[in-house]
Amino acid sequence: KSFEDIGLDERILKGLSTMGFRKPSKVQERALPLLMGNPPKNLIGQSQSGTGKTAAFVLNVLSRIDLSTPQAQQTPQALILAPTRELARQIVGVIQAMGQYLDGLVIGTAVPADRQSRPAAMTCSVIVGTPGTVQDMVKRRVLNPTQLKVLVLDEADNMLEQQGLGDQCIRVKAMLPRGLQVVLFSATFPPHVHRYAEKFAPDANEITL
Ligand code: AMP
Repeated sequence: KSFEDIGLDERILKGLSTMGFRKPSKVQERALPLLMGNPPKNLIGQSQSGTGKTAAFVLNVLSRIDLSTPQAQQTPQALILAPTRELARQIVGVIQAMGQYLDGLVIGTAVPADRQSRPAAMTCSVIVGTPGTVQDMVKRRVLNPTQLKVLVLDEADNMLEQQGLGDQCIRVKAMLPRGLQVVLFSATFPPHVHRYAEKFAPDANEITL
């Protein structure tokens, strides 16, 4: 299967080609048809770093957001939660690279350092952040969650190892629209992580590499 077969937009294909991505990795090949299906599926994916999971969820996010009007471009439509500021920054870099030919794509970050410096409204279509800061921004109405269509939880196992982050993710999700697509990736699935994942992403398709 090629990226073309998966049905990605021309501009996204161009971004992939600029990045030197020639064909989908295994996780991308398996995840993308589920994520981009009609209707889009919730997904629980087991995948180590290095397998291409970031691109899998980023390609879905870029495919699902509407950038057709200035208003849409300024409305949060996808939210990605990561355990650390560093990982959030890396994910932003991947979105920027893959979305480099998408006009009007603005990515916002919601990480601890931005808490004071960015009290203004988040006027971007994609937000990448750590759970506590995102929760805070939604509560303070800096981040409008009402139009979010996709929620991604990256490195769920790391998230659950850190005090309170797993609970913060649940609290964030409770403030989001019902029925939004939930995508969860974790490198490992010990029983407590699996139980968490099933609650977080109900009725999800599961893929194991
Ligand atoms: P990740 O698993 O998301 O940490 O990605 C691991 C590495 O693989 C990153 O450096 C990506 O740039 C690279 N990568 C991911 N998907 C592909 C692909 N389809 N073709 C070539 N490189 C890829």
